[in-house]
Amino acid sequence: MRIVRIIPPSAAPAAPLLALPVFAILDGSTLRLLSKAPWEGGTPTGETVPHTDALPLLAPVVPSKIVCVGRNYAAHAKELGNEVPKAPLLFFKPPSALIGHGGTIVLPPESERVEHEAEVGIVIGRRCKGISREQAREHIFGVTCVGDITARDLQRADGQWARAKGFDSFCPAGPWIETDLDAKLADLRISCTVNGATRQDGRTSQMIFPIDELLAYTSRMMTLEPGDLLVTGTPEGVGPLVHGDRLEISVEGVGTLACAVRK
Ligand code: ZN
Repeated sequence: MRIVRIIPPSAAPAAPLLALPVFAILDGSTLRLLSKAPWEGGTPTGETVPHTDALPLLAPVVPSKIVCVGRNYAAHAKELGNEVPKAPLLFFKPPSALIGHGGTIVLPPESERVEHEAEVGIVIGRRCKGISREQAREHIFGVTCVGDITARDLQRADGQWARAKGFDSFCPAGPWIETDLDAKLADLRISCTVNGATRQDGRTSQMIFPIDELLAYTSRMMTLEPGDLLVTGTPEGVGPLVHGDRLEISVEGVGTLACAVRK
């Protein structure tokens, strides 16, 4: 099942709150609106909207937090001259950094080097605290494509990464959440192109700390809420984004998230 988040066309007079974003099930070319987020118990309202290119797909999550993992692929740690961490290296991106499919990554004037990091995003389905690796799967709602956009010069200058990874538009996510990938999480292809040329092409099987372990580890420190986003690290091949670029991030079994880049 694919879950999107949209602002329904305001033409339908039956629902007075149509200016607000809603979740929906993408069913072929039809969007079946949900009463609320599926991880909050949302059910189909009976309303449908046609799925067309003209209808923007918002980031498919409204997380209380976005937990990210640094240096989780050995070849990527090496390409930036870093050691492989002994335990998962966690950091946050603010939810205000989220944009959806078709959105625009805005290059901030503070940075001269903004880079793409293509990552597998895990959407939490059930509240978890102190869970084991074996319990991780039952707490996962689904998978989406995420860009951990990073101002590399600011990351190096600051030590703390909140600024370098926290600018508005630095967390593209989507185009939707795919819920049927549980059995394949350990070996999904994750790739990205810039203007059609491949930059990154890896597999989740290359992770230093696999997804189940990341979830268990993170839940030891903090309660993960339904709808929270866990961003699981990037394979090698990170590189610069410049004004006019088109970034596409693909996760096997999910699809392709596309964004423009401008100053
Ligand atoms: Zn990253």
